[in-house]
Amino acid sequence: MPTVFAHALVPVAVGLGLGRRRIPARLLITGAVAAMLPDADVVAFKFGIAYADALGHRGASHSLVFALLLGALSACFHRPLRARAWTAFLFVACSVLSHPLLDMLTNGGLGVGLLWPWSEQRFFAPWQVIEVSPFAHRFFSARGVEVLWSEARWIGVPALLLMAVLAAPRILWERRQSR
Ligand SMILES: [Zn+2]
Repeated sequence: MPTVFAHALVPVAVGLGLGRRRIPARLLITGAVAAMLPDADVVAFKFGIAYADALGHRGASHSLVFALLLGALSACFHRPLRARAWTAFLFVACSVLSHPLLDMLTNGGLGVGLLWPWSEQRFFAPWQVIEVSPFAHRFFSARGVEVLWSEARWIGVPALLLMAVLAAPRILWERRQSR
């Protein structure tokens, strides 16, 4: 995994880029939390479930089905999230899906179980450019700094660019309207 907070950067950048009228604050926060959620599967280690198991780390919780389920759940709660059902569904499902897609770009561990429950195959991207994050207890080390630098380059910078690309036309449009 990239560091868990790096995963939250993606929905935050997209949400801020699209603006509060399209992605209200509550939905933005839900998306950010949802993007970190797949890594809650590390508790599997505590229960003695192997990494490579379907319920192990980067397994079922890193699947397309899991992303769609969380999207559907958010659509059910679209009113308290102050968004339309479709917006809640798309934003949360894409936020969750961004997690395994980023994990696929890391250079360590096992791949992600994107097609669970149909296949237990673990997938990696052809380009594994992100330094894999060590688990928490080894994090504060030279290796930790290396991981953060790698995430800043491969997640932080693209997220900022994406936010700018999404925000620029909206801000220009709003300025024109208010003139
Ligand atoms: Zn992960």
